[in-house]
Amino acid sequence: MRVLPVVKHGDPVLTNGVEQISEVTDEIRSLIDDMIYTMRNGDTPAVGLAAPQIGRAIALIVAEPPPEYKGLEAVHDGAVVVINPEIVYGVGATVVEEGCLSCPGITADVQRPATVIVKGLDRDGRPVKLEAEGALARIFQHEVDHLHGKFFFDHLNPIKRQLLKSRIRRT
Ligand SMILES: [Zn+2]
Repeated sequence: MRVLPVVKHGDPVLTNGVEQISEVTDEIRSLIDDMIYTMRNGDTPAVGLAAPQIGRAIALIVAEPPPEYKGLEAVHDGAVVVINPEIVYGVGATVVEEGCLSCPGITADVQRPATVIVKGLDRDGRPVKLEAEGALARIFQHEVDHLHGKFFFDHLNPIKRQLLKSRIRRT
C-alpha cells in the first residue's frame, strides 16, 4: 500500500463528477486499500477520502468511523468503504466545522442533516445500506459531495464562499 498524491482545489477532476463502478475488480480493491492507507498516513491524516481526491473520476469513498461505531457493515481494515454511494435519506440538522484535504488552509461551519442513510456496495461488491448519525453521517455527506463535484464551502452563502475560496493555500 502507498500514499497517493491528493488532488487540490482547481483540478477539474474535483468538479467534473464521476462514473459509477460497474465491476469491483482487483484494481478497484487495490485502489481502496491505497485510499485507506492515504487517509491514515498522508501528510495530513483525514477521516474520509473520495476517489476524485486522488485523481480518479469514479464513485468510491472511504471513511474512518469514530470509535463509538460498532458493528458497522461495509468495514474493511477498520474503515468504511462504499462503492457507488448514494444518500437516500437525511433528517435533522447540525452545524459543524469542516475542512478538506483538497482545500488546505480553510475551514467553515457547515449545516447538514444529522442522520443519513447511505446505499451502495461494499469492497466485495455486496449491496449495503448504512444508517449513520453524528460524525460519520457528516463524513459520508462531505465525501459523497466530492463525487458530485461539490466542496463543503458550496453549502455557504455566495459571499462567505468567495471569501473562503480566496484563502485556499496554493502550495
Ligand atoms: Zn473533502
